[in-house]
Amino acid sequence: MHVHDLTRAACDVKVDGAVVVRAAVVFKKAARDIDRPVAASFAPYAREVIRETRRRQREIVKPVRDGLAALGVAPEVVADVIVTHLHYDHCGNHELFPQARYHLQDREMAYATGRCMCHPALRLPFEADDVVAMVRKVFTGRVAFHDGDDEIVPGVSVHLIGGHSRGLQCVRVKTRRGHVVLASDATHLYAHIDSGRVFPITYNIGDVVEGYATLKKLAASPLHVVPGHDPLVLARYPAAKPGLEGWIARLDAEPKEF
Ligand SMILES: [Zn+2]
Ligand SMILES: [Zn+2]
Repeated sequence: MHVHDLTRAACDVKVDGAVVVRAAVVFKKAARDIDRPVAASFAPYAREVIRETRRRQREIVKPVRDGLAALGVAPEVVADVIVTHLHYDHCGNHELFPQARYHLQDREMAYATGRCMCHPALRLPFEADDVVAMVRKVFTGRVAFHDGDDEIVPGVSVHLIGGHSRGLQCVRVKTRRGHVVLASDATHLYAHIDSGRVFPITYNIGDVVEGYATLKKLAASPLHVVPGHDPLVLARYPAAKPGLEGWIARLDAEPKEF
């Protein structure tokens, strides 16, 4: 079984929010079954955890609200939320941050509300309700649009990548170990950026592979790029604090040996 299969399986559970908040239970279960074919190993567990919640029949097993509570962060005081792109697994929790401004690329909103969404193949990773919720935030003055690279606060910047989704942006954060880049879906797995492979959901393949070069340029080293969907992230970085192992990781710490 390849890690690619493992992550596809893991992606079948809806997880909103940051890369550090993960469906760890699923990953651990899948990892235990790693020597068995994924179709056979994952199917019973999928039936166990996936219930009818929305059209996609996903269940959030580790909500962002719980993750923030575990870190002692009240959602009410969060001032800025960076939306890397509007795919359904990256832009839920519409009501969780009542004070926040939402940072989004011009191109992503244009893509998610324009003619491309007439095509089933392109609208597949979007949920109309998520997009509408973001449009409503525009009309209440709570969206900050960016066109390309921009600084959100000192030490935190966004960078347009495109490719996987037309207005996908990554996030660069200055940390004690140098610039860390949260790639989001600019590289789903370490394997994508390391080998130049492309995840099948893609708006523009050329921008995807150019994006790999951009990620490397923005990060202090290849070890500072954090993929959006790789279970290895939680294996390589230490827990934010005791008890959060396999759920919330510190990305400003040195990763374990690759
Ligand atoms: Zn995506
Ligand atoms: Zn994603």
